[in-house]
Amino acid sequence: MSQESNILGLSRDDLLSLIMGFETEPKRASMRVNQLWSWIYCHGISSFDKMTNIDKNLRTELKKVFKISRPNIEKKEVSNDGTTKYLFCLEDQSKIETVFIPEEKRSTLCISSQVGCTLNCSFCYTGTQKLVRNLTSQEIIGQVIAVYDDLDLWKKMKNEGGQSSFFEIITNIVFMGMGEPLLNYEEVKKACNILMDNRGLDFSRRRITLSTAGIVPKIKTAHEEIGCMIAVSLHATENKTRDILVPINKKWNLEQLLSSLRNDVELRNSERVTFEYVMLDRVNDTTEDAHRLVKLLQGLPSKINLIPFNSWTGSQYKRSSPDRIKAFRDIIIKSRLPSPIRRPRGEDIMAACGQLKSSSIKEKASI
Ligand code: SF4
Repeated sequence: MSQESNILGLSRDDLLSLIMGFETEPKRASMRVNQLWSWIYCHGISSFDKMTNIDKNLRTELKKVFKISRPNIEKKEVSNDGTTKYLFCLEDQSKIETVFIPEEKRSTLCISSQVGCTLNCSFCYTGTQKLVRNLTSQEIIGQVIAVYDDLDLWKKMKNEGGQSSFFEIITNIVFMGMGEPLLNYEEVKKACNILMDNRGLDFSRRRITLSTAGIVPKIKTAHEEIGCMIAVSLHATENKTRDILVPINKKWNLEQLLSSLRNDVELRNSERVTFEYVMLDRVNDTTEDAHRLVKLLQGLPSKINLIPFNSWTGSQYKRSSPDRIKAFRDIIIKSRLPSPIRRPRGEDIMAACGQLKSSSIKEKASI
């Protein structure tokens, strides 16, 4: 097995500390970091030999101790609707899933932040998988870079060969794959800073969304420190239902969650909190639920994504009927809250929202 350490996914500061071991003069070391950054995040280069503006002797030294490696694609499935699901195998043989969702006006990459998840949301297939561990920022960024490689997006990023359509680039990144990103905060933050670095991948903060089940103390911190968009998995309008659907509600209930969003999170101009609401037949889809939802969100700039439930073997839930979903949506729209009904994507390959899972063994479940 290779002993070199992977520099993909390291922060600029961490990279600088490593390079100072080879270039002790600070200005030259900083220049080297810029060169490496550009090769890795603008050109997708994984071999030091191709970094032609770096001195050959230094390249030889660097490749003795470092590597620039991505997770291996163990399996790739393409849905009838173009959605692509990747199963990645990490160095310790853990498995994670990542989904590319091309749409007309945007293309989204849904990435994982943990192997498995401890939160056990009862409608979510990932929740039935035990947590193995948090991902490192290298493994989080590795998913993005590996998909860029696989879809040959580096040329399109530089716009070689003419204008790219939204089907050919990644416009948005969402942390809605496996895991709760706010329970792996430091590594997720590091990864977001790399994604947003304007000398590399250059995603604007508005194009990155962290989706949380409601880790209340971390929402404000993430919003302030990372600055990206926040989506909250709400899924119910009463604590007794949410305790079952999203059990972290027993620790931070609806009142605490909404009070924190109202009072602690300072939304910027025209910013809204996105609420995810999975539509479950006879569980959370009544007219009363819709009215309660409107009342709960009163005065909070919000958008509600209604997600028709995506089924999986062993699930106790059924998707609400199209008429019920429409009636629910109509009540919300009357109160002038945007509430698009999300079109299920990649259902035929189990890549839709709440359907991701890979085999793993439980290590710890501390919050
Ligand atoms: S919905 Fe998110 S937080 Fe809940 S179990 Fe699934 S992956 Fe974990």
